[in-house]
Amino acid sequence: MLGAIEAGGTKFVCAVGDEKGTIMERIQIPTTVAEETMPQVIAFFEKYNIEAIGIGSFGPIDVNVESPTYGYITSTPKPGWKDYPFVQTMKEAFGVPIGFNTDVNAAALGEASFGAAKGLDSCLYITVGTGIGAGAIVQGQLLQGWSHPEMGHILLRRHPNDTFQGKCPYHGDCLEGLAAGPAIEARWGEKGVDLVERLEVWDLEGYYLAQALMQYILILSPKKIILGGGVSHQEAVFAAIYKYLPELLNDYVPLPELSDYIVRPELGDDAGITGALMLAERAK
Ligand code: ADP
Ligand code: ZN
Repeated sequence: MLGAIEAGGTKFVCAVGDEKGTIMERIQIPTTVAEETMPQVIAFFEKYNIEAIGIGSFGPIDVNVESPTYGYITSTPKPGWKDYPFVQTMKEAFGVPIGFNTDVNAAALGEASFGAAKGLDSCLYITVGTGIGAGAIVQGQLLQGWSHPEMGHILLRRHPNDTFQGKCPYHGDCLEGLAAGPAIEARWGEKGVDLVERLEVWDLEGYYLAQALMQYILILSPKKIILGGGVSHQEAVFAAIYKYLPELLNDYVPLPELSDYIVRPELGDDAGITGALMLAERAK
């Protein structure tokens, strides 16, 4: 039996399952502070005979195995989680191999194993929700370097009519600052779900996301792009991306048919937890 944790900013999903991606049991635990959330996580897995555990975590996290703080959630502003030794805590409790990566790399792995990028050795998974993050698989490997990529914080060309100052606490008008859920709400004065009819909202959203996808395509050349997160529920965002991306690329690089290239997660909300199962399998 494999264990999996999708550690998010609002909730933890814990599951047990197998290497085929089958989930046998799962629970959700609210993310409060580590000393409250983690005992519940441990109590869940104690009921099973677990061989390995995979963790896809919110970040920033330390994924460098050479680092003394490998396995930590590091500089998060989230109270009760800063400098938290996540892997060490699970290892102490269970003594099994632990796979540890970002939530978005886990989702990319889930989709590459069983979802929209099944059978491909390359894909990009981008989530547009409370924040923007992306994970990638390149030549069969989860993309990682000195640390993990933070593709949500790239800089873009502003739309000439967009006067919103941006909402990222670090960079102001980076991609996340301009296009994540909270930025949409701050710019337009209503939550994304209540702006469905306002086509200009999703047109601008697609304008920024198309720029971001252009950078990712030029740098990584992924074989499939999977767009998840709350904002991706807006059909009009895809339409705007399909419109702006070819304009931006201007035929410089050939692309597959866009409606088949930039797609929704086939695993839906299970991309991350399924990928975490695969992180466990890879750690075994
Ligand atoms: P999280 O990023 O916290 O895991 P979500 O991916 O659901 O969760 O992202 C939440 C953000 O996405 C919020 O800012 C919310 O307003 C926005 N959002 C959620 N659902 C939708 C929707 N159907 N349409 C537009 N925006 C949405
Ligand atoms: Zn930023």
